[in-house]
Amino acid sequence: MSFFASVEMAPGDPILGLTETYLADTRPGKINLGVGIYVDEQGHVPLLRTVHEVELGLASAAKPRGYLPIDGLPAYNQLTQQLLFGAGSPLLEAGRVATAQTIGGSAALRVGADLLRQVAGAGAKIAISNPSWGNHHVVFRTAGFELLEYRYYDPSSHGLDLAGMLEDLGKLEPGTVVLLHACCHNPTGVDLDAVQWQQVIALLQERKLLPFIDIAYQGFDQGIAADATAIRLLAASGIEAFVVANSYSKSFSLYGERVGALSMVGADRDEAARLLSKIKQTIRTNYSSPAAHGASLVAGVLGSSELRGRWEQELGEMRTRIHAMRAGLVERLAAHGAPDFGFIQGQAGMFSYSGLSKAQVLRLREEHAIYALDSGRICVAALNRANLDTVAAAVAAVTR
Ligand code: PMP
Repeated sequence: MSFFASVEMAPGDPILGLTETYLADTRPGKINLGVGIYVDEQGHVPLLRTVHEVELGLASAAKPRGYLPIDGLPAYNQLTQQLLFGAGSPLLEAGRVATAQTIGGSAALRVGADLLRQVAGAGAKIAISNPSWGNHHVVFRTAGFELLEYRYYDPSSHGLDLAGMLEDLGKLEPGTVVLLHACCHNPTGVDLDAVQWQQVIALLQERKLLPFIDIAYQGFDQGIAADATAIRLLAASGIEAFVVANSYSKSFSLYGERVGALSMVGADRDEAARLLSKIKQTIRTNYSSPAAHGASLVAGVLGSSELRGRWEQELGEMRTRIHAMRAGLVERLAAHGAPDFGFIQGQAGMFSYSGLSKAQVLRLREEHAIYALDSGRICVAALNRANLDTVAAAVAAVTR
């Protein structure tokens, strides 16, 4: 009998499973709105011009391929801190932030989870929004956390359930970690405004909860600084400790290069130094050190004021296209006589909880070859001028 005979099949990833069904669909004109990536008007993952420019320079420089330090490229970490906290942030000047490059935002979450679990001990608990990105649950559960939920999305208004959120956060035990999406909430597209963030942050502070911010879409809603409002307000709040996991997968369109970072804020420089030593230990015992190429591209772009300016324009182009697709979808749905979908325009980022029921999503798939997640999540970035009207007509047909 094989050593592995008792190994059971692990459950498949629902999103990747949907993509497989989509690929196997032979109907012409099929449309996949189930994806989690930004694609351009032609349906392609863009290669940003600024990224390509840096890449050409790197290739011709023919540099040797040594290891990066355990915590990654120093310039990348410094530039990441400035993007998240703002250049000249008092926290950065006080040396209170420990940042390490990670393998995408996913490893930032995992390294952060492992480290927090060590600090919090056996009773570690984390509260996650209902709903949230599916990996949040598995990453923290695998790291040994007990999972709790807080109310977030209100299906009746298609917006934020702020009262429910505050009530649930208010009941958490001190020391509980609270995972928060800084912007472009995945999967709902429903975000907090600055006033609502202030309310939540005041509660986190009062209840002695530990904020863990996940920011994977900085620049996809309003821009670099505005999309980091939660981080900037936390920094200004006087809260001594919080954590930020960020990803450049979307904002640099560098998905497969796996670029992200973990930043842990401590009470002072000494605490930050101890945190960095622990982050490095966690990375060392997981994957030893991060990958060099993607981080060199990001650091190359962010480190040049000229390239950074042009990158922000490219990011702006992606953002503007998403906004235009939201507006276009709402307009076309109305033209096809669908019920009111105006809320889609108020949602932020790549995703929208469309409010479609599972039965309606199935009808879209079976009758119209249009793929969305069972939850009703659609990727607005998968829309383009060529498919917008087809999608709107089909959604109108299944919702009438
Ligand atoms: N957080 C959220 C909310 C995400 O949507 C994603 C990517 N889908 C990540 C983190 C992880 O990003 P990465 O691909 O860089 O690991």
